Amino acid sequence: MKELKQDTRLVHADRLLNAPEDGAVHQSTNNSVLFAFEDVSDLESVFQGKTAGHVYSRSSSSSAVALQNMLAHFDNALASTVFSTGMAAISATMFSLLKAGDHIVVSQYLFGNTRSFFDNLQNFAIQVDYADVTNAQNVKDRIKSNTKIVFCETIANPGTQIADIANIATICTESNLLFIVDNTMTPSVMFTAKQFGINILTTSLTKYVAGHGNVLGGVVVDLGNFDWSKYSNIDDFYKTAPQEMWGTIQLRKKGLRDIGATLAPQSAHIISMGVETLSMRMQKTCDNAFVLAKYLESHPAIKKVNYPGLESHPQHIQACSMFKLDSLQGQQCVFGGILSIELSEQYDVRQVLNRLNLVLSATHLGDTRTLALPVATTIFYENGFEKRQQMGISESLIRLSIGLEHPQDLIDDFKQAFDND
Ligand SMILES: *Cc1c(COP(=O)(O)O)cnc(C)c1O
Repeated sequence: MKELKQDTRLVHADRLLNAPEDGAVHQSTNNSVLFAFEDVSDLESVFQGKTAGHVYSRSSSSSAVALQNMLAHFDNALASTVFSTGMAAISATMFSLLKAGDHIVVSQYLFGNTRSFFDNLQNFAIQVDYADVTNAQNVKDRIKSNTKIVFCETIANPGTQIADIANIATICTESNLLFIVDNTMTPSVMFTAKQFGINILTTSLTKYVAGHGNVLGGVVVDLGNFDWSKYSNIDDFYKTAPQEMWGTIQLRKKGLRDIGATLAPQSAHIISMGVETLSMRMQKTCDNAFVLAKYLESHPAIKKVNYPGLESHPQHIQACSMFKLDSLQGQQCVFGGILSIELSEQYDVRQVLNRLNLVLSATHLGDTRTLALPVATTIFYENGFEKRQQMGISESLIRLSIGLEHPQDLIDDFKQAFDND
């Protein structure tokens, strides 16, 4: 068969990759926690990693594996490992691949909870240096002899700063560093991570991939381009596996099995249904966000719009070369579904948000519905004023996650909320 386009593969992946029984088009959900064996030597063999199989669903289940197969396939990756949340994916990666005394370089533009996690990681004797990743030189300047990992987001939540990914990847390759990127804001339908030299992706599946605000999940994807033999933190015990799998095996043992933030089988199933419509939803989300950004930019109530699709965005041209969606016309530049805005001084943030009827005041993103959130007083509250300044989060910043509504209805809702003042 001719190679299928991404949209088609998304719709048919479950059936084609996982070959469910009885001609089912979805992998069935199996909720069994335990797995029994006729011959105990087969049980021992699975425990020892000599044969594939499941022994206990904290470590693996057929439902989770089916989703892992699909997610690895879409990134043309070596393997993926699913977790209960996006935060679990990030924390398990760091705890399984770092040791006390290691140094890492981390973006200063991060989702608030991720920043809080990295701040806390310093209590475990891991040195964390924050850098402005919009310029790769800032990363290079911070590399030390004990540096192991560089971590950033593709488009930062919520400031929309875009990391200098290709150049950071080159620096990481030169210095043998593991380059880990959170692509939650730009799922694989609009960003081919492997082409940019990224080694590992962490994604919150809760957001665009699942898409409907009714399930939590996360994934770590090993793109298969990192030489694990040069990574000094792999336990000898896991080196019996093929070398390319060392990172994934250690992550699955130390990160998933031992920490235990496992994705429930039912959740894996719900997420796999989201995957089928991901491309279509992303297209609509990006289209809507573009229209809304243009409208908001032109409205006197707005002081600033952060959105990579606007020419005023400092990384606009770079964004266009990084993020593309397949369409009938070919590759179309897209810029994601997140904007952040600041209102002009005379507008009261709470009054404006309270007047919105359709747009919900809620924390979440990548939902079918458009959401608005003042970030300094919510997701970045705990970070405090000084860190917010360093992270480029202004006190009046509002994050908008654009949904799938008709854009005119969204414009009308914002218009009535502003004009009431
Ligand atoms: C939401 C989010 C996370 C965390 O994901 P959860 O599934 O909510 O744990 C991580 N990174 C980014 C960029 C996010 O937006």
